[in-house]
Amino acid sequence: MIAKQMEELVNGSSVIRAMFEEGKKMAAEYGEDNVFDFSLGNPSVEPPEEVRQAVIDIIENEKPNELHGYMNNSGYEDVRRTVADSLNQKHGTHFTEENIVMTVGAAGGLNVILKALVDPGDEVIVFAPFFGEYRNYVANVGGTTVVVPPDTETFMPDLPEFERRITRRTKAVIINTPNNPTGVVYSEEVLRGLADAMTRKQEEYGTDIYLISDEPYRELVYNGVKVPYVTKYFANTIVGYSYSKSLSLPGERIGYLVIPDEAVDAGRIMSAANVATRILGFVNAPSLQQRVIARCIDAKVDVESYDRNRLLLVEHLRKYGYECASPDGAFYLFVKSLEPDDAAFAAKAKELNLLVVPGSSFACPGYVRIAYCVSYDMIVRALPAFEKLADIYSLGTEDGGKDGQKT
Ligand code: PLP
Repeated sequence: MIAKQMEELVNGSSVIRAMFEEGKKMAAEYGEDNVFDFSLGNPSVEPPEEVRQAVIDIIENEKPNELHGYMNNSGYEDVRRTVADSLNQKHGTHFTEENIVMTVGAAGGLNVILKALVDPGDEVIVFAPFFGEYRNYVANVGGTTVVVPPDTETFMPDLPEFERRITRRTKAVIINTPNNPTGVVYSEEVLRGLADAMTRKQEEYGTDIYLISDEPYRELVYNGVKVPYVTKYFANTIVGYSYSKSLSLPGERIGYLVIPDEAVDAGRIMSAANVATRILGFVNAPSLQQRVIARCIDAKVDVESYDRNRLLLVEHLRKYGYECASPDGAFYLFVKSLEPDDAAFAAKAKELNLLVVPGSSFACPGYVRIAYCVSYDMIVRALPAFEKLADIYSLGTEDGGKDGQKT
């Protein structure tokens, strides 16, 4: 018999993953070209050529005992130095290798930092809509997830609601910008507002609260939008980064944490993150991928392709009557469901072979997420289905269009 805790998790297993599996089955049944799978944030753009070259070169030219062995749990020192130097150059920060822990993607990094910071019973605040796995990561360390309800006008954090939810037990706050699932990028003003609220509450309660900035989409922004570097606004900030999206390497599992000296107990947190990396069973981030990152520190994926997809979808969906948040970054559109029940709406979409994820999976019912990290051609092929879906609802009856099937 499996653990009771796992029983619940297995039964409520990720809707997104389930849809992805369903999409594969549907493609086998209806043909690849007739299924429009917008469910998973799996990058369609290939990794940059430098990555392939780096892998080959490292494998061919490795020195004996330099690639495949155990290492410091935080990762290779020279790789961490390269990461720190690159951040300093881009953001005017002053990090060294002592501030960097290489991680098994953003997911690994978040689990490591939560293990390092959170005691059972501590609270971790998140802003709806949010990446649903946060709840599981917080539960992994016995913490309690506290959700700030969404501001569906702007999809920015609702600052007064946030401040009201900070208690003596609040240990960490997770933000994600550019955001999954909305694509919004937090402005400097919002970050200052978050920092002010946290500073006030730290003073009021005499506690330390850590801001964890989960940033796998930092490089994926459009129209020259700037993504402010969060450590500049709040001293107790820890950054979690990943190359899953920025270099299209989600299967390779590589990322890092930044633990700045300015954070309270930075040295101890670094030691705790080191130990957490070991005892969670990661031991260290994959060695080959660390070496690849060091060589490809300035490499970029073709963001233009995502931008083309974004423009095509936004233009057409708005024309068909859909409402969506202004997506400045990441590769998701968060679209208002055409009936209050987002799961029913996603089911209706599925009848047209359109796979989208209900907003409830991100604690924001009434919306669906469309991941546009797919091929441009698939979007072109999917547009008539999106139009037909909108027509079904616009021709529907007052009960939300359920009887309004267009024939
Ligand atoms: N955080 C957010 C907001 C994500 O969207 C994802 C993946 O989609 C992750 C973390 C996990 O990323 P990784 O593949 O780097 O573990």
